[in-house]
Amino acid sequence: MSQHPARRKVPGAVVPDGWVRLTVPPVPDGMRPTSWRRTLDAVHPGKAGVDALPGHWLNPGDDIALPDGTLLLAADKTGTGTAVNARTRRRYTTEDAHLTIALLAPDATLTPLWARRYTHAASALGREVTNKAVALLAAHPAPGEAPVILAEAQRPNRRAAACRWACGTDIAPGDGHLIGSGRNAEVEHWPDCTAPANLPVPRPRATCDNCEGHGRGHEATDSNGIPGRVCARCAREPSYLLSFA
Ligand SMILES: [Zn+2]
Ligand SMILES: [Zn+2]
Repeated sequence: MSQHPARRKVPGAVVPDGWVRLTVPPVPDGMRPTSWRRTLDAVHPGKAGVDALPGHWLNPGDDIALPDGTLLLAADKTGTGTAVNARTRRRYTTEDAHLTIALLAPDATLTPLWARRYTHAASALGREVTNKAVALLAAHPAPGEAPVILAEAQRPNRRAAACRWACGTDIAPGDGHLIGSGRNAEVEHWPDCTAPANLPVPRPRATCDNCEGHGRGHEATDSNGIPGRVCARCAREPSYLLSFA
């Protein structure tokens, strides 16, 4: 992801009185697009993974407003290699995760309070992190407010898709803007539907999104939350072993 993504202002959005304007830290060059940021608002120890740490998702590069005193939880992931699934003999990318918790100061600086690198991203959000979150939230009670988005950074789509607005025309990979995530992700023109296409739209593919093999008769979601269509063999794989990028 670029350090200087294209941005578009959100019409009418203003910084609420007493709130702080900041840019959500971009994902550093070379880090995986699966890296993420969110506010840390509470802890639900009975839940697993990110559900144990309720908060609001933040898009890297967006200009936003939040109350000072908000804690931000970030995961920056690096590809560490590849592994081969024993059953299918298919390769997938393994990731580590560098977790940080930072405090938003009134002058909009982010003060790191805690950081830790986990060798396996899949197991990063465990008891150690939830215990740390409990202690930090006791010292810095969360305002718990949803961010106001002032300007959006472009999140380029990685696959061709039809625009979600009335224009409905196809958008080439990298030319549009992703809205939402995972199964509910949609693509729209950037910065709007009147912008001329920068990239040619490829012809629809006929092969599996995961293995490039024959057949795409099954819906699936990959490890990055990207929806796609896969062959019968890949349809039997757990989503964390699929990659459609
Ligand atoms: Zn459009
Ligand atoms: Zn396949």
